[in-house]
Amino acid sequence: MLRVVVLGAAAGGGVPQWNCGCPVCLIARTEHPELRSTQASIAISADGEHWFLVNASPDLRQQLIATPQLHPKVGKLRHSPVSGVILTNGEIDAIAGLLSMREGSPFGIYAHARVLAILKANSIFNVLNEKNVRREPIEIDKAFEPALPDGSSSGIEVLPFAVSGKGAWYLEGKAHPAGDDGAGDTLGLRIADKATAKYFYFLAACAEVTDDLKARLAGAPLVFFDGTVWRDDELIAAGLGNKTGQGMGHIAMSGNRGAIESLAGLDIGRKIFLHINNSNPALLRDSTERKTAERAGWHIPADGTEITL
Ligand SMILES: [Zn+2]
Repeated sequence: MLRVVVLGAAAGGGVPQWNCGCPVCLIARTEHPELRSTQASIAISADGEHWFLVNASPDLRQQLIATPQLHPKVGKLRHSPVSGVILTNGEIDAIAGLLSMREGSPFGIYAHARVLAILKANSIFNVLNEKNVRREPIEIDKAFEPALPDGSSSGIEVLPFAVSGKGAWYLEGKAHPAGDDGAGDTLGLRIADKATAKYFYFLAACAEVTDDLKARLAGAPLVFFDGTVWRDDELIAAGLGNKTGQGMGHIAMSGNRGAIESLAGLDIGRKIFLHINNSNPALLRDSTERKTAERAGWHIPADGTEITL
C-alpha cells in the first residue's frame, strides 16, 4: 500500500508569504486561517513506517511537527521515520529544509547530479555529514529504489524523468556549478509501490505539457501537478512582481495550453495541484477560478491531506 501525505501545497513563500499583502495573503492572516499553506512537499511510504520526502521545503520543521506519521517513535530517544529525501530541483523551496535535518540522524539524499552539484557548491550543506547523510545521484529515465538507513529495501520504485523547466532562480545569469545547460534541473517522478504496482506522478514544476508528457500521464490513477499561477502574467497584473509564470519555469493553470486544458481527457484518476503561489486566485474557495478548476476535476489540497493507493 502506497501512502502519500501532502506536507505542503504552496509555492515559494507559502501562504501567507512573510512580506505580502495580496488579497489571498491578507485573508489567510486574518479571517481565513484555513487558507494557510506551507511550501510544497509530500511524504511517501510503502510500509507506513519508513517515509521519504519529495523535496525538503523551508517549512519542513513545521511540517514534521504537524504530521504524526513523521514523529519519532514513542520510547526512542533519537529516531525519525524519515528515511530519505528525493529532490526534484534545486530551488530554495525544494532544498532549504535539508538544513533542518542536521541533527545527526542517518538518511539519504537522492538528486540529479546537477542538483547535487548545487549542494556541493554551497558549503552550508556540509552540515549534513556525508557519513550519515548519503548523497545518491539519480539519473533521468533510470528507475531506482531508495534505501532505508540500514540499507534494506523501501519497497518504493522511483522513475525520474526530465520535464521542461528552468534552473534555480538564484542561479539565473550565473554559472551553474554543474556547468553548461543540461537536463536534470527539473524532474518529474513516477512513484510506485513495488508490491502492488500502484503508482502516481509528481511534477511540482513544469513549464510545458508536451505530447510525450501527455502520453506518460495518460491513465495514471493520481497526478500531482504544478499549480503555481492561474494565468501567466498574474504576478505582473497584480503588481507583485515582474516575472511571468513561464519566466519562472511554470505553466499556468488556465488558458490555452495551460495545465487544465493540457491534461484534460487523459483519463487521470485524481488530479491535484501543488506548488500554488499565494497570488493564485484559485486558492480562494469561492472564486470563479477555483470553481473552474474543480469543474475540470482538479483538487487543491489542504496541508496534511493523506492519500492511499
Ligand atoms: Zn500574497
